[in-house]
Amino acid sequence: MKPLTMPLLLTSFTRENKTEGDCACSSSSVDISLPIPVPQDDFLIPAGLIKLKLNDDFQVFLSPFGSKGASVLNMAAIEVLSDHRRQIAQPDLTSRLFSQGLLETEKDNHANDLCLHQPDTLTSWLHLTDRCNFRCSYCYLPHVREDMSVEVGRAAIESAFRSAILHNFKKIKFKYAGGEPLLQYPLIMELHSHARRMADENSLILEEVVLSNGSLLNAEIADAFKSQNIQLMISLDGLGDHHDIHRSYAGGRGSFADVSDAVELALQHGLVPSISVTVSSRTVEGLPSLLTWLVDRSLPFNLNFYRENDLSVSDEDMKLEEQKIITGILAAFRVLEKNLPTRSVLGSIVDRANLISPHTHTCDVGRNYLVFDQHGQIAKCQMQIHKPITDMTVNDPLAVLQTDQTGIQNLSVEEKQGCKTCEWKHWCAGGCPLATHRATGRYDVKSPNCNIYKALYPEALRLEGLRLLKYKNDPALVMKI
Ligand code: SF4
Ligand code: SF4
Repeated sequence: MKPLTMPLLLTSFTRENKTEGDCACSSSSVDISLPIPVPQDDFLIPAGLIKLKLNDDFQVFLSPFGSKGASVLNMAAIEVLSDHRRQIAQPDLTSRLFSQGLLETEKDNHANDLCLHQPDTLTSWLHLTDRCNFRCSYCYLPHVREDMSVEVGRAAIESAFRSAILHNFKKIKFKYAGGEPLLQYPLIMELHSHARRMADENSLILEEVVLSNGSLLNAEIADAFKSQNIQLMISLDGLGDHHDIHRSYAGGRGSFADVSDAVELALQHGLVPSISVTVSSRTVEGLPSLLTWLVDRSLPFNLNFYRENDLSVSDEDMKLEEQKIITGILAAFRVLEKNLPTRSVLGSIVDRANLISPHTHTCDVGRNYLVFDQHGQIAKCQMQIHKPITDMTVNDPLAVLQTDQTGIQNLSVEEKQGCKTCEWKHWCAGGCPLATHRATGRYDVKSPNCNIYKALYPEALRLEGLRLLKYKNDPALVMKI
């Protein structure tokens, strides 16, 4: 007789944030704390639950009402999921299935949780300079020779804190950006001290990240960032030529050698940079080898799709050719499958999607995001930094952005035509509103990249399921019951 298999549920041990990227997407996730279920209730499988077969013994699930990413269940656990008698007999597992959002009760129906949730972080982009030593093909900036002054930087930070306090945010995050922010390294450290002091005085959690091309990193800077808990994001789009044809110096020389050296330097100094990868039709074929390089170094990374802008429109070969992008990224996924990373990939491998936790909006624009230019003017998105809505002198700049009807409109996925009935809507949220508007002239429709997304989401979920299976015996990475 075949021995009885014990039910098994695998999930990420802790909630992992979306990997750092250039957009304001990290904090719009919904962190839902599900209440403890009543054991005698009749449990139901919630609408919108996604499941995929991994092999004959395991399936991977993604719930629109859980915030801990995917869950892998063996067949014995799946039987508990669908059988009331087994649920009564296995209350611990049933409770865990409930808290993962894989079960609900008529009373504890989580359908409204998504709408009720408020983000807890106010993020600000600080445009420390418009200058840059690179001339990347997709850059949307004119590179005027203008820097943010210390006075403007401090006043911008103070105005962000005013809004954070007025809106009861728990965390405040600053993105030191540009241009190339390391051209303004002393200013970063000055603003960091100011932000640190204000966060302590106001009992707010502070998060900071420098968004850099990496070329100016040195040992002193890496040590300072490490000791001050300032994160570093470096842009790297491929290995060798695949990077250089996107990202060259102002004189035309390729930057790969210097950028890869900077990544190694950061690692040598104990600073783990987050890698931002911009994917276009020009470079997608190089993605498999880049991911191998990144996984070999255990680097967190984020794949962002190229977004056309007025300055890049003539570079036709970067446009996202649907089939080419799908084929290239699936080839990169196959590389990941052979060498599954220890970190969850759900928040980082399909453009702006965050498959770790459900959410209603693609990014934080118009909700909990401020973009300060070098003069202290405030825009809604860094790609529209030239279209400010208000400035740092107003008492509550966030309130102005939240009520603005003229600029970019970041609608809920429920308001986007074509998305309402999509099974991936809770994690995709309909894509970048700016890219959609550029392609269609509307904010209330699905992303022009929808077909690419729908081809990749199931494969991303399958990868995560395989990752949980691979590391199931490592209690630091996978929770098992
Ligand atoms: S853009 Fe496409 S994949 Fe994303 S939610 Fe809308 S319909 Fe779904
Ligand atoms: S609107 Fe698009 S480009 Fe701007 S922050 Fe949102 S996702 Fe990023």
